[in-house]
Amino acid sequence: MSAQDRDVGWAEAAAELRRHLAWLDDAGVREIPERPVLPDPRPVRAAPAPNLPSSDQGGPAARAGAAAPPGAPMEAARTGDARPPARAPAAPAAGPYGLGDRGCGSPALLDIRQGLGECQRCKLGQGRTRLVFGVGNPRAELMFVGEGPGEDEDRQGEPFVGRAGQLLTKMIEAMGFERADVYIANVVKCRPPGNRNPEPDEIEACEPFLRAQIAAVGPKVIVALGKFAAQTLLRETSPISRLRGRWFAYEGVKLMPTFHPAYLLRSPQEKVKAWEDLQLVMKELGKAPPRR
Ligand code: URA
Repeated sequence: MSAQDRDVGWAEAAAELRRHLAWLDDAGVREIPERPVLPDPRPVRAAPAPNLPSSDQGGPAARAGAAAPPGAPMEAARTGDARPPARAPAAPAAGPYGLGDRGCGSPALLDIRQGLGECQRCKLGQGRTRLVFGVGNPRAELMFVGEGPGEDEDRQGEPFVGRAGQLLTKMIEAMGFERADVYIANVVKCRPPGNRNPEPDEIEACEPFLRAQIAAVGPKVIVALGKFAAQTLLRETSPISRLRGRWFAYEGVKLMPTFHPAYLLRSPQEKVKAWEDLQLVMKELGKAPPRR
């Protein structure tokens, strides 16, 4: 190798390191621990799932059938035949919902979307522009669950596309994934007016569809973003500050609660803690931060 080649190599390595440090700085990480953050040694706790039969011991496809929302034709999910074999992002399909059936990239997900139809099961149906079903890889190993669509999401029909969504996308990329690698959904699929919190009856009406989506995707890890996602999926009432950073089990899937990106925009000093939580997820999935 010539001296000139060596100089170019060093310059590229230095530029890459600078870019990585800039991201960490942007994410609020001010100190890099000497040793990696290790998983919480506390045991994984099984969450009760009162709306699923206790005999359900099956894999994700079996769970898809068990968690089927009322009225959803779930045959494909029940048999498991319809799931694509590889964890590869599916090409968007044209379909009746006008958005390339966003988030419906497998027959099981499409069934769930069809079960929702032009949903008016709760009062949020009246005020929405678009029902925001989900987005991403229908066989993702990593799934994010947020609270509910905001104004941008309501207009575009896709979860997490506003400011909080841009931060979520940065978080996903910092973990070594592309946004298209993961699956993203919300607890409620229609925008609460004025971005108020979703109400218990709205969560109750929508939750079976989220549970069915999770079963259809069959992720290895779920990241619950904020209090509503964590409390709903885990049937918990503890605040997110108490839940975050600890592993839970949701239907046999590891679940990590962390702060919601909208909260992180308001409280950037908390990004460090969220990054710690995401590092636990990365370790679980064998991911390293990307080389840029
Ligand atoms: N916040 C959420 O919880 N979900 C979205 O889709 C957008 C913002």
